[in-house]
Amino acid sequence: MSKATILVVEDDPSVRNLITTTLKMYGYGFLTAGNGQSAIMQAASHNPDVIFLDLGLPDMDGVDVIRRVREWSELPIIVISARSEETDKIEALDAGADDYLTKPFSVEELLARLRVSLRRLALLKKAGEPCPTFINGGLVIDFPAETVTLDGRELHLTPIEYKLISLLAKNEGKVLTYPYITKAIWGESAESEMASLRVFMATLRKKLEDKEGSQKFIQTHIGIGYRMLKVEGTGAGREDG
Ligand code: CA
Repeated sequence: MSKATILVVEDDPSVRNLITTTLKMYGYGFLTAGNGQSAIMQAASHNPDVIFLDLGLPDMDGVDVIRRVREWSELPIIVISARSEETDKIEALDAGADDYLTKPFSVEELLARLRVSLRRLALLKKAGEPCPTFINGGLVIDFPAETVTLDGRELHLTPIEYKLISLLAKNEGKVLTYPYITKAIWGESAESEMASLRVFMATLRKKLEDKEGSQKFIQTHIGIGYRMLKVEGTGAGREDG
């Protein structure tokens, strides 16, 4: 399998070098851009597999780069930003970014996020094919039947809980913001729906807990949203219930 090519958009040469050196070490290909215009042109002409994007660029806001790229491409975009304000993260995610890392970051973390994005890319490429079943560890969603099972036992979900878990599953690995989710579920993103979302998410997460009371599928990003994590293992052999 040939390794992916990553477009690294970063105006700070030291950060850019750290990232490209790491990618090179792990056998990935890369392109670089030091500003937004160059990033958009390179994304359009070289068709990279993933974009690492700094939000603070000299010529334009990184969020606008995301909006422009999203006009024609669904390729994964991972925001790498010095800004720690949640509003910036939400704006970037709502504009179509898949994930974010806050500077300073570790290269291990960067590589882990990259692997998640490449997995989502592989799923996207298969998206044309019908995929009636979602399997993640011991969690199985049968979309045509609208049933959810965990370690072989069926979960009794309310219609809203089912919509929530389906939405997160279809976007596995991607952080979905509160406004995105409430709009998808209720058609609008009013404050009242935000409160409902928290309640439904709490009951859903409770139903996904194992015997020890821990839940490993839905990750909470406080103040931002939720993400369906890829869980390792198949859940096979846990027939002791
Ligand atoms: Ca910058």
